[in-house]
Amino acid sequence: MAGIYIHVPFCASFCTYCGFYSEVLRDGALAGRYVAALRREAACRRDYFPEDSTVKTIYMGGGTPSLLFPAQFSDICASLADSFDLSAVEEFTVEVNPDDICRSGGQDLLRTYRDCGVNRVSVGVQSFHDAHLKWMNRRHDAAEAERAVELLTGAFGNVSLDLIFGYAGLTASEWEADIRKAAALGVQHISAYQMSLDAGSMLSKLADKGRYAEPDEDVCRSQYFLLQDVLDETGFVQYEISNFCKPGFHSRHNSAYWAREPYLGLGPGAHSFDGDRRRNWNVSDLKAWLDGAAGEGEMLSDADIYNEKVMLGLRTSAGVDAGLIGGSAKHNLSFDAATGRYSIGRRDMFVSDSIIRDYLITD
Ligand code: SF4
Repeated sequence: MAGIYIHVPFCASFCTYCGFYSEVLRDGALAGRYVAALRREAACRRDYFPEDSTVKTIYMGGGTPSLLFPAQFSDICASLADSFDLSAVEEFTVEVNPDDICRSGGQDLLRTYRDCGVNRVSVGVQSFHDAHLKWMNRRHDAAEAERAVELLTGAFGNVSLDLIFGYAGLTASEWEADIRKAAALGVQHISAYQMSLDAGSMLSKLADKGRYAEPDEDVCRSQYFLLQDVLDETGFVQYEISNFCKPGFHSRHNSAYWAREPYLGLGPGAHSFDGDRRRNWNVSDLKAWLDGAAGEGEMLSDADIYNEKVMLGLRTSAGVDAGLIGGSAKHNLSFDAATGRYSIGRRDMFVSDSIIRDYLITD
């Protein structure tokens, strides 16, 4: 199988914690140029996949894809359909922000998504507490987030909701309320990330100046355990460090990343992988990408491939085949005799990075 990722590099404003590459969209003409360039890029890369691989998933992320007008979105979908065989696509996900769904025109957007074959949406909620949302510089409040999720679950049978924990000021009871609210809204999938000091984010600048301090690891750990417990109690299955779903509703697109299936990334900063040794990435700069700047790439060594298999596999509850890590001591992994696979135990998922490090080949 194969996947297509489209990076939409626009946001209406920047969130405090975010270090992703995107540009504040002030100029409608710029979005038009972006769509035209994406059309050209899709046409140029139409032969990227080997003949025997079938495109099964499409994921449009960002940035904020829901900032694009319906006509621009349809244009992108038409260019994909011109360049690739999309007849076997099983999952087409678009990331949306609550304010775009609730504003006038939001219903047109949802109709366009459905008409273009979108069957999964991922909504960035992050919190159901107004004070925290304001501090994060999100453009929606809690009521708007709730309303957006209701509209989305009414329009799509497969909705994913993002939450954030592990930041200063978030109490255990607020976090529990966030998780319970998300589960009660009837979504099929929840991704929950611990806030980090991403390079280039406003938060990391505040931390550098001594104006923000991350909470203690104990606090973050207990919030992670709370997440696992409440979602388990409400019928969600954890299938990756940060991802939980109702049975059968895992993200096919992201699961394919973790299984090292091939994918093609379109748009500034987007990465591609041929499913074997070659990784490529586009320049992370909208203007340079519009001007046709060449991307970069690398060929993976055998050690790189081994490390990727371990890193990506151990992120998931399915883990890795025993044959992969055969020789090493495995004191911090669980073994499932029925599947012959090693995985990180449920609670240890919180410290997965340090466990995974034990199994990597280093020079
Ligand atoms: S979190 Fe999303 S909306 Fe906020 S700045 Fe980052 S990409 Fe943009």
